[in-house]
Amino acid sequence: MIASLPPVRGKLMQDASLAPYTWFRVGGPADWLFLPADEEDLSSFLKSLDPAIPVTVLGVGSNVIVRDGGIEGVVIRLMGKYWGAIESEGDLTVSARPGALDLAVAKTAARAGIKGLEFLSGIPGSLGGATRTNAGCYGRELRDVLVSLEGYRRDGTHVSYRGPGREGTAPEAGFSYRHTDLPDDLIVTKLILQGTGTDAPDKILEEIEALQTRRAETQPIKEKTSGSTFANPDPPGTPDQRSAWKLIDAAGCRGLKVGGAQVSPKHCNFLINTGDATAADLEALGELVRARVLDTQGVQLRWEVRRIGRTA
Ligand SMILES: Cc1cc2nc3c(=O)[nH]c(=O)nc-3n(C[C@H](O)[C@H](O)[C@H](O)COP(=O)(O)OP(=O)(O)OC[C@H]3O[C@@H](n4cnc5c(N)ncnc54)[C@H](O)[C@@H]3O)c2cc1C
Repeated sequence: MIASLPPVRGKLMQDASLAPYTWFRVGGPADWLFLPADEEDLSSFLKSLDPAIPVTVLGVGSNVIVRDGGIEGVVIRLMGKYWGAIESEGDLTVSARPGALDLAVAKTAARAGIKGLEFLSGIPGSLGGATRTNAGCYGRELRDVLVSLEGYRRDGTHVSYRGPGREGTAPEAGFSYRHTDLPDDLIVTKLILQGTGTDAPDKILEEIEALQTRRAETQPIKEKTSGSTFANPDPPGTPDQRSAWKLIDAAGCRGLKVGGAQVSPKHCNFLINTGDATAADLEALGELVRARVLDTQGVQLRWEVRRIGRTA
């Protein structure tokens, strides 16, 4: 198979373990793991790759369960200096590559005196992952700050989108609560985000610090977890919004275990790997929680965490 993969300037590894690249620390290997050197390396690889070979892109793995049988085809990670670049520009904007961590984007904006991107500091993923999941917290989501994005389709075609409600000739990207209508095969390679105003950098950095302290008090952020497992049944802003954690608690699932997987006693919409969980344990526990919530609360929870790959 190696003969059929196009030559690259970045790194291409066979049977590469993925567990270390996910927050849950579970899952099997990628048939191939590709770390492109830059945009040109990525696009020429995609253009030459046999269309029958599946491609999956991963960020920092804070919103995925990679199943125990690993991932078929090529997994692409856009990490390293080139892919993590962030620059503050004029007009309250920040341009960034998808491997930039959300926290680093929030801090870069803060240091430039741009406010309105602080919420990103509460999301422990990369900007690429935040785009795909329309990540958000504290009442703001990626769609609120997105001016434009660029990327490549599976066949190597370059595409551009403008953010919701922004001006421009590119098609508008559709976003909703923890969801985007962007094509499934899109690999995001560049984004422009915009803040809402200016303030003293120290003041914005203090706000970021305060958000992080609040998170550490309420969420098991030091555990092997993937954040909120299920989307809230109602999107933010809905009157009397039902939250997933309250339903899970009411269904008696706080602390529930399957193998090495547990519903976090601290925040019951978080699953945790207590040490020796498999991806199958985590998925089975999630399904058990969904069944109990449906039985006792009459609500069908929707997985927010993405489950990808083959079962063992
Ligand atoms: C402790 C904790 C707290 C969390 N709190 C929040 C929160 O408050 N709000 C929230 O929204 N989320 C939260 N999350 C979930 C997670 O951090 C976000 O969904 C984050 O945006 C995922 O980014 P990632 O880089 O980890 O993506 P991954 O988990 O690696 O991937 C997620 C999805 O994004 C896709 N993807 C990644 N990079 C790209 C790219 N370049 N182009 C196209 N698609 C791509 C992947 O294919 C996958 O479908 C939390 C997670 C943890 C562990």
